Amino acid sequence: ITIGVVAESGEGERRVALVPKMVQRLTRRGARVVVASGAGAGAHLSDDDYTEAGATIGEPYDADVVVGVAPPSDAEIARLREGTILAGFLAPLSDQNRISALEKAGVIAFAMESIPRISRAQAMDALSSQANVAGYRAVLLAAQHLARFFPMLTTAAGTVKPAKALVLGAGVAGLQALATAKRLGAQATGYDVRPEVADQVRSVGAQWLDLGIEAVGEGGYARELTEEERAEQQRKLTEAITGFDVVITTALVPGRAAPKLVSAEAVRGMRPGSVVIDLAGETGGNCELTEPGQVTTAHDVTIVSPLNLPAEMPDHASELYARNIVELLELIIDTDGRLTLDAGDEIIAKSCVAGNDKLSQPEPASGTE
Ligand code: NAD
Repeated sequence: ITIGVVAESGEGERRVALVPKMVQRLTRRGARVVVASGAGAGAHLSDDDYTEAGATIGEPYDADVVVGVAPPSDAEIARLREGTILAGFLAPLSDQNRISALEKAGVIAFAMESIPRISRAQAMDALSSQANVAGYRAVLLAAQHLARFFPMLTTAAGTVKPAKALVLGAGVAGLQALATAKRLGAQATGYDVRPEVADQVRSVGAQWLDLGIEAVGEGGYARELTEEERAEQQRKLTEAITGFDVVITTALVPGRAAPKLVSAEAVRGMRPGSVVIDLAGETGGNCELTEPGQVTTAHDVTIVSPLNLPAEMPDHASELYARNIVELLELIIDTDGRLTLDAGDEIIAKSCVAGNDKLSQPEPASGTE
């Protein structure tokens, strides 16, 4: 079997789907790995690094299995042959057209976003591995833009109070942001609508902000709030946000527009020189004043909306992502290097977002109707 590693074409995308260390794991399974020339350059990996690990440099789109990071463009989909297996981020909930195009091209596509969040799939969880990077980088961005220190300092020139950082949405990115803000010396506070994360917030040394609104959805995710809950949440948050120097927002609901948590009024209530880092820009932003992809200023508060933070830390982001990809590939390629696309496996069935009809169906259990 051959596995092709594409060179990412998206603007600013510096990650790569496989790193040399992971190439070795696949070749041990009898797979041949073909890497597009320059595919690793953005993550500081040369073609030689790949060939030394046992890969060849060549045309990845001719391979049986093609792996990438960002969703493929129309031109890239046109290069995929019928029956090819594709694995990568595919944005299945937000871009149905792309999924239809893959379906039409006869591609069997696995979306990393759709891998169920069950313990057996933890090592394949690319949403988590990349959210971790984003949460960390968000704090660095905040520190960079804040007109004040993060840590408390006692100096001969006087004492500086620590910054107060509020993180809205305490999932994977949010918890990493809280931990990182703590490490930089800020007073960190976390908020979420899933009450079970309160203990996780406290365990990284942050305080828990309780607004009394619970919205637990399916699969460990939050649900969308009702109209009334939303109004109540915004009102309470607007009040709470006033005292913070930094607000980092990470709140997402799968397949929906990002909830608006930070109102214009809340921004107006922040001290001049404060910062909002909005990680939800791709789905519209958690702050009413966010301009996705831009750094703007409103009421003397800097609002930053980075769209692809993991790509700004490409070495580790790629290393972690490659591990996720290889874990998935090891599920669909057996130790003799043959494909095992078993629709009876929950991970395979749920993450396959196009070409499901080509999966091998489980044998019907005998004796049942
Ligand atoms: P996410 O990126 O979908 O959302 C980020 C956070 O925003 C979530 O914590 C969510 O509850 C919160 N949020 C959504 N709407 C909100 C609102 N209106 N107000 C405030 N907060 C809001 O979530 P995620 O980081 O991908 O993680 C989701 C859950 O999945 C977490 O509990 C995580 O621990 C869990 N998880 C489980 C596994 C596993 O068991 N294998 C792996 C990874 C993550």
